[in-house]
Amino acid sequence: MAFAVKVREVIAMFDPMALHHRRCREVRANMSAHLDDELDAATAAGVKRHVRWCPNCRRMLKNLSRTIAGLRALQSQSSPPA
Ligand SMILES: [Zn+2]
Repeated sequence: MAFAVKVREVIAMFDPMALHHRRCREVRANMSAHLDDELDAATAAGVKRHVRWCPNCRRMLKNLSRTIAGLRALQSQSSPPA
């Protein structure tokens, strides 16, 4: 029914989880820049606020930061001594 579809659309518009998922996408897009300290203060604060209550993004940020730390450690090991 067209009406039911409409109602579902409206609910999705105001559904905090739908908003939340949109926020997740933005946050994830900014994550590597955040770990590189390349975000402006407001965006970085938004990422931090989001991961505080979003376990999925928190886990992702943790994994990403671990991966980047590992890569940096590798790089510093393989680079010749100055
Ligand atoms: Zn999230």
